[in-house]
Amino acid sequence: MTFKELYLSGQIPFEEIDRYISRWNRSDDERTLAKYLGLNADEEDVWIDDSDEALKEMLDKRERVAGTPVTLGKTDIIINKNGFGALPIQRISFDDAKVLLRKAYDAGVRFFDTARFYTDSEEKIGYALSDVREHIYIATKTAVTTAEGFWKDLETSLHNLKTDYVDIYQFHNPAVCPKPGDGSGLYEAMLEAKEQGKIRFIGITNHRMSIAEEAIESGLYDTLQFPFNYLSTEREIALAKACAEHKMGFIAMKGLSGGLLTNSAAIYAYMAQFENVLPIWGVQKESELDEFLSYIGNPPELTDELKAVIEKDQKELAGEFCRGCGYCMPCPAGIEINNCARMSLLLRRSPSARYLSPEGQAKMKKIEDCLHCGHCKSMCPYGLDTPKLLEENYKDYKEVLAGKRL
Ligand code: SF4
Ligand code: SF4
Repeated sequence: MTFKELYLSGQIPFEEIDRYISRWNRSDDERTLAKYLGLNADEEDVWIDDSDEALKEMLDKRERVAGTPVTLGKTDIIINKNGFGALPIQRISFDDAKVLLRKAYDAGVRFFDTARFYTDSEEKIGYALSDVREHIYIATKTAVTTAEGFWKDLETSLHNLKTDYVDIYQFHNPAVCPKPGDGSGLYEAMLEAKEQGKIRFIGITNHRMSIAEEAIESGLYDTLQFPFNYLSTEREIALAKACAEHKMGFIAMKGLSGGLLTNSAAIYAYMAQFENVLPIWGVQKESELDEFLSYIGNPPELTDELKAVIEKDQKELAGEFCRGCGYCMPCPAGIEINNCARMSLLLRRSPSARYLSPEGQAKMKKIEDCLHCGHCKSMCPYGLDTPKLLEENYKDYKEVLAGKRL
C-alpha cells in the first residue's frame, strides 16, 4: 500500500512519511519518491515546491477511507474495498433503497455502481445520496451503440442521479471494444463528455475475456469491470494483474457469482488478496449489507476454515455452469434463462422454497416452450450450450418435485 492510502485510511500518522521515504534508496529524486508515496501531480508539486505541512493540509481535505483502501489505477479514486453494486435495488421501493444506500454511506461506503440499464437504480441513488454527492464516487454505464444514443443516455443518467458529472462512465458489456476511429463515434463521445466535464474517467465492463484483454492492451480505459471471485480461472486472475500493471482500476462484479457463493467472509477474504481489486457487492436486503459492512472494521482473514470453504465450492462448481448474467435475454419464448439454466445449483446452494413454489414451477415449465432459435447460445459470453443446459436443469427440477432429495 502507498503512504497516501495508509494515511487516508488512518493506518499511519502523517509523520510516518519520513520513515516511509527512508525505505527507498535515498538517491531517488523527489519526483520518483512522490510516485512511491502515491501522490498525484498536484500533491507532488505541493510537496516538492512547498513543504510536508502543505501536503498534509492538502491530504486532509480529501475524503477519509474507512477500512482497507484501494486505488482505482491512475484515477486517484481511493475508496475502501466495499463498492455498492446497485443492480438489486431495482427490486425494492425507493424508501427501502434509501435505507440501504444511506446505511452504506454512513458506514463509509463511497463507491456506487449503477447502470442506465438497471431501470430505476440511478434514480434511487439520486434520491438517496444527492445531498452527499461531493463525498461519493458514482460509476454508471451505457449499453448504446451510437453516439446519438450515448448523449441521450448520459443526459438521462445525470438527470436521474441528480448530478452534473459521473465519476466513471462505462461502456456496458459492448460486443466490441470501442476505439477512436472505429466508425461508431462512441469513444469520441466519451472524450467529448470528458472535455465538457460531464464524466471524469472512462471505463468498460465486460463478460468476454477477449474484449477485456483488448481494452487493457488498448490503453484507452481507466477502469475495467469484470466478473471476479474465487471461481475465476487463471486467465481471469491474470486480467486483474494486468490491470495493476497497466495502471487501470479493476472493479470486480459477481463476487458472489449471482448468488451461488454464499459465504461472504470467504469471498471477502479471497478478494482482499488482490490489492488493486475493488469488489462491488450487489445487495438487496439489509442483512446482506450488514454482513459486508461488518467487514469494514473487521476484515475476515483467509483462515484454513475459509480456505476449505473455497476449495469445496471450487470443486462443486468446476466446469461449465450458468453465471446468471442474463446477457442471453430476453428469450422469445419468455424463459427466465438466467435462473432456469442454473436451477439445479440454486436449489442446492440457496433456500429452495421460492424456486419450488407454484410461481417457480410455472417459470420452469416455460422451458417446454423453447423454440430452439439458438439466440441464447449465440449470446452467452461463456460459450454455454444454453438450450441443453435448460433441458438438463428442467429434468433435474422435475425429479426434485417428484421427491428426489436435494
Ligand atoms: S433457444 Fe430457447 S431458450 Fe434460447 S433464446 Fe431461443 S427460445 Fe429462448
Ligand atoms: S446462459 Fe450464459 S448468457 Fe445466459 S445467463 Fe447463463 S451465463 Fe449468462
